[in-house]
Amino acid sequence: MTASRRQLIDAFGRIHNNLRISVTDRCNIRCVYCMPERVEFMPREQLLNYEEIARFVRIAATLGIDKIRLTGGEPLVRKDLDELVHKLVGVEGIVDVGLTTNGILLAPVAQKLWDAGLRRINISLDTLDAERFKRLARRTGLEETIEGVLAAKRAGFDPVKVNAVIIRGFNEEDIAPLGRFAREHGVEMRFIEYMPLDAEQLWEREKVVFAAEILDVLASEVAPLAPVPNPDPRAPAVDYDYLDGGGRVGMIASISRPFCGNCNRMRLTSDGKLRNCLFALQETDVRGMLRSGAPDDQIIDALLKSVAAKWEGHEINTARYIQPDRAMHSIGG
Ligand code: SAM
Repeated sequence: MTASRRQLIDAFGRIHNNLRISVTDRCNIRCVYCMPERVEFMPREQLLNYEEIARFVRIAATLGIDKIRLTGGEPLVRKDLDELVHKLVGVEGIVDVGLTTNGILLAPVAQKLWDAGLRRINISLDTLDAERFKRLARRTGLEETIEGVLAAKRAGFDPVKVNAVIIRGFNEEDIAPLGRFAREHGVEMRFIEYMPLDAEQLWEREKVVFAAEILDVLASEVAPLAPVPNPDPRAPAVDYDYLDGGGRVGMIASISRPFCGNCNRMRLTSDGKLRNCLFALQETDVRGMLRSGAPDDQIIDALLKSVAAKWEGHEINTARYIQPDRAMHSIGG
């Protein structure tokens, strides 16, 4: 079989076409659910450079990877990210390059990223209240994030998706205001259930605000909603449309409706470790291969082996769950 005919299919028949690439473990904020206040970042020389990332993507594309999402840490703290976008958009077989960002540094570079070929953008914003922002992110930045959302709209991103994690005792009051904000500005709100990937192991099931509860709040305080017919079965979000035509909301219900059965995602950390799941306990070092001049076949083999070893699903809802050593900021959300 030639490399170009091979695909990333796991033992459960799931075909993987989606690669999330973390470009840094650094971040300019310290969200309580993601990162510790004090953190030792990886030395810069351990991070893959843009040429190394592009080579890995060229190889992965021969196995059917066609969608890339850049994430972090905060990807926009990495210099000249538009240059990486430009490189990846040009890789044969890659049809879609997206970015997940906290938006604080976005406004000045949104147009540059669009011009480089970025077409999908998700901006994280958990609250519209400056005090709660400071409590959740342990830094300021609300105004800059909102500026970033508006700049993304102006640059042409459509839809602009805004991601919020709702944590009981922190920001339930923000559900309806965020819903209204999204409608007012023509952006798509997506609510993510809080997952046990925080650095300080503060996660408790009681703190998770489930999608059903969020939908109830939106329906009663913003406007009635109905599920979107014929959803994309591989997408993590289940979408709902406002019945008054006020736009769309997505629910990423990782805990109450795990979507592992449709998972099509692989991950590359900023220090070049290949992971087959956010919750994986094992990873494969591809940086060593990239830096020692390993042939493409060796990296193809690593990808095929990693996907073959993928579990059926995360175990969050079972007693077997073991939290990975790396927190979210270091894996890449
Ligand atoms: N810094 C960028 C950002 O803020 O979007 C990209 C990285 S961040 C890790 C990616 C996404 O993961 C964000 O939307 C964030 O809210 C989400 N996230 C982080 N920790 C999480 C957790 N414990 N549970 C659910 N989502 C989480």
